[in-house]
Formats: sequence, C-alpha cells, structure tokens
Amino acid sequence: MKALCWQGKHDIRYETVPDPAIEHPRDAIVKVSSCAICGSDLHLFDGFVPDMHHGDIMGHEFMGEVMEVGSDTTTLRVGDRVVVPFTIACGECYQCRRGNFSVCERTNRNAERASKMFGHPTAGLFGYTHLTGGYAGGQAEYVRVPYADTTHVRVPDGLSDEQVLFLGDIFPTGWQAAVQCEIEPTDTVAVWGAGPVGQMAVRSALLQGAKRVICIDNVPERLDMAAQGGAVTINFDQESVLDWLGDLTDGKGPDKCIDAVGLEAHASRSLDSMYDRAKQAVGAETDRPHVLREMIYVCRPGGILSIPGVYGGVVDKIPFGASMNKGLTWRMGQTHVRRWTDELLGMIVEGKIDPSFVITHTVPLEEGPGMYKTFRDKKDGCIKVVMKP
Ligand code: NAD
Ligand code: ZN
Repeated sequence: MKALCWQGKHDIRYETVPDPAIEHPRDAIVKVSSCAICGSDLHLFDGFVPDMHHGDIMGHEFMGEVMEVGSDTTTLRVGDRVVVPFTIACGECYQCRRGNFSVCERTNRNAERASKMFGHPTAGLFGYTHLTGGYAGGQAEYVRVPYADTTHVRVPDGLSDEQVLFLGDIFPTGWQAAVQCEIEPTDTVAVWGAGPVGQMAVRSALLQGAKRVICIDNVPERLDMAAQGGAVTINFDQESVLDWLGDLTDGKGPDKCIDAVGLEAHASRSLDSMYDRAKQAVGAETDRPHVLREMIYVCRPGGILSIPGVYGGVVDKIPFGASMNKGLTWRMGQTHVRRWTDELLGMIVEGKIDPSFVITHTVPLEEGPGMYKTFRDKKDGCIKVVMKP
C-alpha cells in the first residue's frame, strides 16, 4: 500500500510499504477514506520530538471503513464506518475506567522507555513517536487499529467525511481545552493560536457559554476565521498581546487562558523568544514556552491555564512564582478523545457545529509531502489539510 513515511527532519515521503495485517485478536484493519495533517505532525516534521524512526508511517487523524476484524473484536463489523481517535485506549485499565484515555496504562507497547522519560508511560498514539508506542499511522491506504473495540467512533452514513473526521483529534482537543477552563458566563477566555486547534477552542469556549473569547495569532486569514467564529482578535505582530489583553479586560486580565500553540511558539518582538531559540538550537532546552510565560503573566488571579498545545521535554524561565502567588490552576494533556466524542457527534448531527469549516485544502495522499510544507509555512492560506488515499 501507499503511505506517508517519516524519513528525517523536514523529510516526509510518499512510499510503498507492506499492507498491515491483524496481529492481535482485538485488532481491526481500516481502509482510510480521509485523513488530515495535524499541528502535532509538524513537531515530528520539524524534528522536535525524539524517538522517531526512518520509515515510520505518519498520521493520527483519520477515518474509513472496517475491512477485517480480529476474533475478539465484538463491537465492530466489516463495513462499519468509523473515525479513529488518535489515543489508543484499552477501555479496561484504571485510567480508561475514569475516562483518562490518553494515559491508558496498557496500550503503550514501549512503556518502559516512556517511563524512563516521563516517570510513567502514557497511552499508545497512532503515527507518533516510539515513546508513545510507535504505532503506524493513518496517512496511509490502510491502518491496523489495536484495541479496535474501544478505539473507534462509529459514524452514521448521512454525514460527510469532512463533517466527522476531526472527531478523531482537533474537535475534541479544542473542546477539552475549553472544558478544562470550567467556563462561567462572566468569563473572558483568551486563546493563543488560531490554527485548527485554536479554531475549535474558540468555538467550543463560546458553545460552553463564555462571555467573550479573544484569539491571538499573527496569520491574518487564521485571525479572520477566528473572528467569523465569534472571537475578538489580536495580531501579535501588530500589537502588544499583554497590553491589549489588559485593555480589553479593564486591566483585570482574561479569566481563563488556552495555549493552542505549544512548543514551537514564535514571537516577533521579544527577547525571551531569541533566548529560547538559541537554547533550543544547542539542545539546552527542548521547547519554546513563550506562550506559557504570557499566560502566567496576564491571567487574572485565581484563573485557569488550559494547555492543549504539545510540549515534549523541558522548558526554561517559567515565572513559577507569579503562577503560585496568583493562585493559577494548570490543566493540560493529550486529549481523552473518546471521552467527548458521543456528545460532539451529537452536536454535529443536530447541526450545532460543522467542523469542516476549518478545511482549506483537500488533496490526494501523494501530495502530502508538499502539503506538510504548505501547512507548516502557512502558505496559500492553508489552515487545515485533508488528504484522500
Ligand atoms: P498549528 O501549528 O497550525 O497552529 C499553531 C498556531 O499558533 C499557528 O497559527 C501559529 O501562527 C500560532 N502561534 C505561534 N506562535 C504564537 C504566539 N506566540 N502567540 C499566538 N499564536 C502563535 O497547529 P494546530 O493543529 O492548531 O495545533 C496547535 C497545538 O496543539 C500544537 O502544539 C499541537 O501539537 C497541539 N495539539 C494537541 C493535541 C492534544 O491532544 N493535546 C491535539 C492536537 C494538537
Ligand atoms: Zn493531532
């Protein structure tokens, strides 16, 4: 079959690879009808996430048709149409029973390696680093889905791929980011990043009843899309984020802050970002925490920082004293996708939201390698890429 494979930093290739097969009775094989490139894929593309191997198949946002099921797979049938959550969940362990699917205790087959780095293993993820199990991803014609009984969302035929595809990642990710904010009707929520996750976070925060959402980025068309979704916007190339957030909140600061940017944050006019880039370049710091610093500084005391943006290793110069003394609460994590998908699918069916609004590019899978660059560089108005194998 054909798949997009990681062959090193800035090197994704469309290659011929062996077809996947059932390896375990709880597996299913899915023929992919649509898949997407996620901001998290860019961290692999840009070489910031360790333990990627040459030839690893990319992709963790995908859907398709069940072609084959293992003998212990009882809730799925051949022919079912499914979206596959990017977090692989056994459904039975201590964490899965609590809905903490992204820290499932069983699905990371490199648990020992992951424990050395993080203290504990986290769940297996599709198309990601070997620290999260090294599972082949869904930017491919076919994919093996482990623990398929509990790692799927069955979708009705009446909805298009484009309407439901993002149930596998960015829609629940934006939703969870907002839920973590425990939004109250008087809240101003600030969202850093107007990429696909930021877009979902803006709409989720408003659906969850925020009084006002402010979205920060420097890409005009992304800010326009956030404004169409109901946000007030700040372009950080043109204005001081901290000053503007202060002005918009009568000096109080936003009640809740969402970091939908993560470890590759850039900043146009700040010394700390030059410092981060220099340290990252020599390996003295893995992640650039510019947004975290801004959130701590500007968030209203007693507020919540919600962090869907991905961090991989260590950060430096975090004003932890400010965070402690202001009594801020930190909430974060890879998304517990399956925890939210029934509710979110219901909202799509009812027409409360159509997540396909975020798609700007639809291409055949073989154009994937070029689209990684287009998406990373925000060229051609690119906000979200869907690929068809
Ligand atoms: P993206 O790269 O398209 O979006 C990031 C956006 O942040 C870009 O528009 C960029 O211009 C903007 N940005 C950069 N520096 C900024 C700054 N200083 N202030 C404000 N905005 C800034 O990616 P995405 O798909 O939207 O993903 C966003 C983040 O969410 C990534 O870190 C990704 O890995 C993460 N993510 C996490 C989960 C999860 O489960 N927690 C799931 C999906 C994605
Ligand atoms: Zn993702």
